[in-house]
Amino acid sequence: MKQNHHDVRPDSGASFSGRPKVLITRPIQQEAIDLVSQHCEVRVHSVDEAMPAEMLMKAMRDVDGVMPSGVRLDANVINTASKLRVIANIGVGYDNIDVDACNRRRILVTNTPDVLTEATADLAFTLILAAARRVVEGDSYVRELRWTHWQWNFLWGSEMRGKTLGLYGFGRIGQATARRGRGFGMRMLYYARHRVPLSIEKELAAEFVDRETLLRESDFLSVHVPLTPETRHGISGPELALMKPTALVINTARGSIIEEEALVEALLAGRLAGAGLDVFEHEPQVHPSLITMENVVLMPHVGSATAETRLRMALLAATNLLAAFNGRRPPNVINPEVLE
Ligand code: NAP
Repeated sequence: MKQNHHDVRPDSGASFSGRPKVLITRPIQQEAIDLVSQHCEVRVHSVDEAMPAEMLMKAMRDVDGVMPSGVRLDANVINTASKLRVIANIGVGYDNIDVDACNRRRILVTNTPDVLTEATADLAFTLILAAARRVVEGDSYVRELRWTHWQWNFLWGSEMRGKTLGLYGFGRIGQATARRGRGFGMRMLYYARHRVPLSIEKELAAEFVDRETLLRESDFLSVHVPLTPETRHGISGPELALMKPTALVINTARGSIIEEEALVEALLAGRLAGAGLDVFEHEPQVHPSLITMENVVLMPHVGSATAETRLRMALLAATNLLAAFNGRRPPNVINPEVLE
């Protein structure tokens, strides 16, 4: 049932029998709501938009658990929720949650890794191909009825074979993107805090390099680090200045890892050939210059948006939440120190 106003409704059949109270901040799939409802009193925010701050604070006041998606749970919100014991984030990135504030209150935080890895790597590679082969420009050209004759020298792009794919972050999604790059005959470089086991480097034909080498040698730089205080603006003016003017930057991680103003400057100055972006520093606001650039492919933060993946994410978040309430260790704990 589509609703066009913000409200928080009890899920049908919920009984108020002293079971844990749970808030789900989005109208996720009914299978996942049903699973949680078997054990908890569930309230679902029925509009597929971030809950307004005041409504979120109010709704959090008496809950034992929350399954957030696309809402910020800062210290202020967390401290309002005096009964809160579990935050089962529906997503792998948890930069929306103040984990330190949770630790102080011994609130368990979980996330949904693995289940969204392939979908997000698919989108990273979609953006690489779309930017390299100028898919959006070509599509507009045809739709706008500008295509009157075939031309030899027209919409030339860049091919994959033999090009260097640089992966900034080489965890689950970085490695899954490398696997795709390998299939396309690319040379793979990666930089992360730690080197992965040699067996993985061998399997993916990926070479560990320092950050500067990654930036200097990449034809495609794909970002796969989480957003943390260390990675915020990890790619800014000086980093972009090291890159080849023919290189493309792809970001399916978090917008603020790249300083958007510096990216725009580099693109406008022709010091970078293009970009493929799923995430933005001030999303849903996008830098006005990016909107006008033909060499940039833009997507509205849909890395994990496939039917299969979104269902797996909702069910995994529900599984994490229920494990915590049933006194078992959830499969995906972010702050295990709380369990000690
Ligand atoms: P992951 O498996 O934890 O991998 C993260 C990688 O980043 C690891 O290689 C890690 O290295 C590295 N890293 C962390 N901090 C670093 C630092 N300060 N400097 C250099 N490298 C650092 O995470 P994942 O599952 O691949 O997900 C990555 C991110 O993608 C998520 O955090 C999320 O924000 C984003 N994401 C976005 C979408 C979307 O819709 N667009 C969907 C899914 C995920 P170490 O192992 O050495 O720490």
